[in-house]
Amino acid sequence: MAVHVIDEANRCLNCKKPLCRQGCPIQTAIPQMIQAFKEGDLNRAGEMVFENNPMSLVCSLVCNHEKQCEGHCIMGKKGQPVHISSIENYISDTVFDKLKIECMPKNGKKVAVIGAGPAGITIAILLTKKGYSVTILMLEIRLEEFYSTEFQNSAFPNPYWNVTRKSFWKSE
Ligand code: SF4
Repeated sequence: MAVHVIDEANRCLNCKKPLCRQGCPIQTAIPQMIQAFKEGDLNRAGEMVFENNPMSLVCSLVCNHEKQCEGHCIMGKKGQPVHISSIENYISDTVFDKLKIECMPKNGKKVAVIGAGPAGITIAILLTKKGYSVTILMLEIRLEEFYSTEFQNSAFPNPYWNVTRKSFWKSE
């Protein structure tokens, strides 16, 4: 059954000491994100999430939520935890195309990032915002293919390792 994100958001208690956030490896401001969403301010909710995690859209699908945010949610002690991943996914998916990423002026420095996994892409985005010229070195595979396989297997797919040629992504 599809999760109704508004119903799920309304179940959030906006805890003063949010255990969900403690369970998140990157400390996503979950109650604040949910409150902004409930107030109808999707842009603020999205900016809040993307500022902390540029890979929010991916993480909302592939993180181990049962052991992280949702596994720690207080509502799960006596029933079902708030379905945080669905709320985050809805916010990220809705706001993603409208996001304006502000970049500082180029600082003349170049950085190479090895690997286009979530960590590699995240650091590439953060450095680009700070004015670095970033090149990502990766094995040749289409990113969407990589991530769609990753969703299914939650591990690097074999083809990722089998391809030997390199390709490049550059921020400019
Ligand atoms: S622990 Fe659960 S109820 Fe409390 S703020 Fe987080 S999501 Fe909401």
